[in-house]
Amino acid sequence: MSGPATADSEFTYELCVCRWAELAWPPGSDTQASDDAAYLVARQLGTKHRRWDTVVVECNRDALQARAAFGDDELDSDLLHVVRNAPAEWAWYRDPLPEPDYPWRYVREAVHRAADRGVVQTRSEGNRIQLKRIAPYPDWVRRLIAIENKPDLDAAAADRLAEQIDHDVEADLADEVWVATAETGATVEPALLEALPVEAGILTTDFAGGVDADAASVAWHPTSVTPTHDDDDRVSRRLELAERAYGRGWRDYQATMRPDCRHFELQRTGRLLIPWCAAKECHQSSSVCSGSCEAFEPEPPTWRTNGWPIDGGPGAGIRRLLEQRAERTRQQR
Ligand code: SF4
Repeated sequence: MSGPATADSEFTYELCVCRWAELAWPPGSDTQASDDAAYLVARQLGTKHRRWDTVVVECNRDALQARAAFGDDELDSDLLHVVRNAPAEWAWYRDPLPEPDYPWRYVREAVHRAADRGVVQTRSEGNRIQLKRIAPYPDWVRRLIAIENKPDLDAAAADRLAEQIDHDVEADLADEVWVATAETGATVEPALLEALPVEAGILTTDFAGGVDADAASVAWHPTSVTPTHDDDDRVSRRLELAERAYGRGWRDYQATMRPDCRHFELQRTGRLLIPWCAAKECHQSSSVCSGSCEAFEPEPPTWRTNGWPIDGGPGAGIRRLLEQRAERTRQQR
């Protein structure tokens, strides 16, 4: 893998942290994962006001498996409103669902959408839509952990981070906040440690030899962020974030990059497969590897037909490979 992360390779660093978290969470040799815990990793999730680089969702393992009954895709807030309140027995949809603060017709649309997705059952009784759940929606989310990735943590970056982390603590959506930074020496400079809020944990990473479970260590343990309120709104917003993590994971970058470019490759670095651009000879970022890339060249048509052993050509093969990896990880939880 190419050397230390630069601004251009923050994307690369982010993928390394995501894969490491998938392999090694919770961090620290003295931190044992409880037997009934499972962890989901996702990237670039957040709210209108704040986006986290990496998110780890700590889940109850059995409840997470029960969540699978509702499909692989995320449930958005409207679908959650329906699914979480759908009754065990048939009922007119307005009876079990809490009164929304928007018109009922939108709820009705969400009920139809939920039925199309197979996450509730519906039937018509006269001109009324009745609703019944397919299973109780499980209480699968325990904790949300946010990781900020700052490969080059300097004083200015530490100051900016401090503000963001203060915001996280105030917004209390995350239960724990970490900063991941590339190891440059034996320790993180004490001055940088001091600049960050004590609530934030610090991970130092060394991906030079590839990504494996030992590629990061704890420089500072975080303190749990104590919620100042645990109202329905907070519970719903956290669940929406967790649902996004469930549906997207961290490998969905291939949906916006160009694996259909003849120069797009996946390179192995330890236990991570990471994009490599053969034309630019670097780990390209997702913003560079887009439709506007001046070096983009489509796969030759023969790659997509009989001349290539993978059905659909290498671009389609790479997409399938990453989807299979995500699926395999999902099944191992
Ligand atoms: S040439 Fe451009 S589009 Fe093709 S793989 Fe490289 S960065 Fe991506």
